[in-house]
Formats: sequence, structure tokens, C-alpha cells
Amino acid sequence: MSPVLARAAALPGAPQLARVRGELQLEGHALAELARRHGTPLYVYSRGAMRAALAAYQRALAGRPHLVCYAMKANSSLAVLQTFAEAGSGFDIVSAGELARVLAAGGRADRTVFSGVGKRRDEMALALEAGVRCFNVESVGELRLLDEVARAHGVRAPTSLRVNPDVDAGTHPYISTGLKSNKFGVAHGEALAAYRLAATLPGLRVEGIDCHIGSQITQIEPYLDALDRLLDLVESVEGEGIELHHIDVGGGLGITYADESPPAADELVGRLLARMDARGHGGREVLLEPGRSLVGNAGVLVTEVLYLKPGEVANFCVVDAAMNDLTRPALYDAYMGIEPCTARVDVEPVRWDVVGPVCESGDWLGRQRDLAVQVGDHLAVLSAGAYGMAMASNYNTRPRAAEVMVDGEAVHLIREREQVQDLFVGERLIPR
Ligand SMILES: *Cc1c(COP(=O)(O)O)cnc(C)c1O
Repeated sequence: MSPVLARAAALPGAPQLARVRGELQLEGHALAELARRHGTPLYVYSRGAMRAALAAYQRALAGRPHLVCYAMKANSSLAVLQTFAEAGSGFDIVSAGELARVLAAGGRADRTVFSGVGKRRDEMALALEAGVRCFNVESVGELRLLDEVARAHGVRAPTSLRVNPDVDAGTHPYISTGLKSNKFGVAHGEALAAYRLAATLPGLRVEGIDCHIGSQITQIEPYLDALDRLLDLVESVEGEGIELHHIDVGGGLGITYADESPPAADELVGRLLARMDARGHGGREVLLEPGRSLVGNAGVLVTEVLYLKPGEVANFCVVDAAMNDLTRPALYDAYMGIEPCTARVDVEPVRWDVVGPVCESGDWLGRQRDLAVQVGDHLAVLSAGAYGMAMASNYNTRPRAAEVMVDGEAVHLIREREQVQDLFVGERLIPR
């Protein structure tokens, strides 16, 4: 059994992914059967796994003023957002399009924070009209523009500064967004001056402070380092009489793709709260922006084996899912577990490179995988719930996959398979 499956089976309330009499099942539903019914490529999500992942954060924060804001760029399908909205989650958005999705799914603007390094004027206006909870501002230029847009609307924009804590890359080389060299946030050394400015701008209402130091983080220490840097700043800012209501520690908690063992969400949150208490900040509202850790292990991508091409240097297993459906391997050289949906005892495992039909050598889903498969079999790419469908494209004029959400006994088709004619919408031929 792969480490992901072992971990899933071992964790209470974790993704209900298990092999039963040879059949890989999610919440008791055989993936091969779902593939036959709905076609492939097919994303399948466990609603229970998403709820359990959110509940772990909420449990750890219980008894404190808090808001978990699901960073929806990880998976922005409406039924996923609906699942989180119904469970009391807020949202972290990075565009006006994402705000529209939150509202369409029944989420609340007043539980939504607006992040992103390049917000446009029209996006600010839409977010103000909807009444978002807070703008996470990433530059002095953005502070000035937000002030202008808010005054034009006759309102004050709730504002937090995204601070780049410059957590030491030497000790924590896996951090990708919290360094001085990254485009994100206001530099720690410039943040106090930016708060002084924000406090004088009549269109802004300073509400809090935030950071987001990276993604797929598997250690607690960088979070504690970043929190310390944030609290230092909170103390300086409040020392000047500018009150900060909330602290937003961002997202970034990693999941298991291969053999990573990230801390559990409640363990991470427990350590963060303990540090805040120890420094006398226990009463402050805490915001978190988890994305991947809420959905990543709750989903798989199911694909059919089209051809087997044994070769001299490599053996290729050609499947009907490709880099346009799941881009993480091509984009980040990322490892994702691959399991046959139905275990075979009648063929020997062979070492395959699992590749898609797209005309790019970078179009692969897994390399050097020992799999016992035949043409027509189904494979499941594991931990595909985050940054899978949300990053899918139509490259090679490939319609995007269908999505299914299982929920106990129920199976819901939450997105129909895209049709080729959908891909022509809005295109025009030139008059002859
Ligand atoms: C992407 C992002 C997140 C979520 O990151 P994950 O690694 O998916 O948890 C949170 N906050 C901001 C500002 C982001 O850009």
C-alpha cells in the first residue's frame, strides 16, 4: 500500500480512501465504477474528508474569536465552496471572479478576505460593494488606490497589511513566498511606516495584520518564526496608537503526497495559539487561510489507460488525463501517488512512465511507477483535490474533466464534462 493510503487509513476522519477486495474506494464508492458511469478523466472528491479537514482547524480554534478563510484558489468548484460555507467557513479570495463564486455558492462576503498582489480598481469596487471582511493589502501603492476607491464609494475599506516576514531561507529553504526576494507583501522593515500612512488615509479603516509564507510547509517552526515577527510588528504598531483587531497567519500547511508527514492542523494551530498566549496576545481574533490542507487529500483524478508502449529506455503508459487536467507534475515537477483503481493479480507490475496525450514532453503524471495494468484499466492519481481542477486548462482543445462529490451514500455530479462546442464560445471568424 502506498504511504498516502496507509496514512489515510490510519487517520481518524481523514480521506475515506481504502482498498476493499481489490477495489479502490472513496467513502465506500468504487472509483472504477464511478469512472464507468461518468467517464474519464474524472475528479472525485469526498465531502466527508473536506468537512473533517475543516473541523480539525475549527476544533483547535474553538473558544477563541476566529475565522477560517478557505483559500479557494486551491479548488474553487461551487459545490466545494458550498460545502465549506455550510460548515461555517469563510473564504480567502484573490480576484473578483472568486468573489462572484463565493456569492454564487452561498458564502458570505463579510466572512471573506481579499488577498493578492495585483488587485484592480474595479475589483476593489466590487469587493467594497459586496462588503468583504478585509482587504489584505500588499503594497503602499495599493493602500493609496484602495483609499481612493473607498472614498469614491463613501465608505471606509477594512484594511490589513500583508507583511513579508522574511523568514530565514537558510533554516527553512522550503518557504517560497515569505522572503524579501518574493513579490508578495510589504517588507517587514517598511511595514510600520505603511501602517502610519494607512492610519492617516480617510478611506481606510485599519483592522489587522497578515502574512502567508508559502505552501506545502511540513514543519511548525517557520510558522512560529513568522508569528514572532508579526507580533513584534503588532507591538510597534499598537505602540503608536494604531489598533490591530486581528492576526491572520495565512495558509500553507502541507499534505501527504509521498512520504511527507506534516503536522496535523490542530497541532499547528495549538502551537500558534500557545505562542500568542505566551506573548500576551491571547485575546486577539485569529484568522487562517488554509487551502491545500482542506481539499488536497480529499480528491483523486481517475483516468483510463489508453495504450501501453514498452520501450528500450522507458515504458510509457498513455492515459486519457493530461497536464491540462492536472498540471502539478509538469509545472512543479511534483510527485503524486498513482494507484490502479482495480488491483490485478493476473499481470506482473512493470515500471511505467504515466503520460497524457498532450503534445509536450512535459506532459506526464508520474515517472518510474511500478504498476500492474492493462489497456482499459483505470488509474487514480492521489491527493489531487488541491490545485488540480482549479488549474485545469483547455490546452490542445481538450474539454475539462467532470467532477463528482461523494457524500456518504450519495454521489453528486458537481460539474458536467465540458463539451468541445463550449470551447468555441466567444470566438469569431473574420468576415470574408
Ligand atoms: C495560496 C494562498 C493561500 C493558501 O495556500 P495553501 O498552501 O493552499 O494552504 C493562503 N493565503 C494566500 C494569500 C494565498 O495566496
